[in-house]
Amino acid sequence: MALGFLYTCSCGKRFKVYVPKQKLFRTITGGTVNWERIDELDEANGSVDEVKRQAERTESAFIDVRGGERLRCSACQSEVNLMSHFRTVMMRLSHPRTAVRR
Ligand SMILES: [Zn+2]
Repeated sequence: MALGFLYTCSCGKRFKVYVPKQKLFRTITGGTVNWERIDELDEANGSVDEVKRQAERTESAFIDVRGGERLRCSACQSEVNLMSHFRTVMMRLSHPRTAVRR
């Protein structure tokens, strides 16, 4: 399955974001896993399109992070770096008791 993350802007607008696994996990696992290959498979078997369809179903704007990590909200013009945001979320989920290092 491709990863589709929900990002809700401070103005309430919702985005469904496709994130290649190599972007998220490479820093954690180092070179031991061939994430490029896994992403290629996800992209080839249509699971990125599935994320796109989820976006339509949930009335979220579909964003492909391969097109750029910075998102400018179309409703309120505020900007966020999606990868920093999701990495922070991941770190909190996997290490709830340790401080997030930047
Ligand atoms: Zn906004």
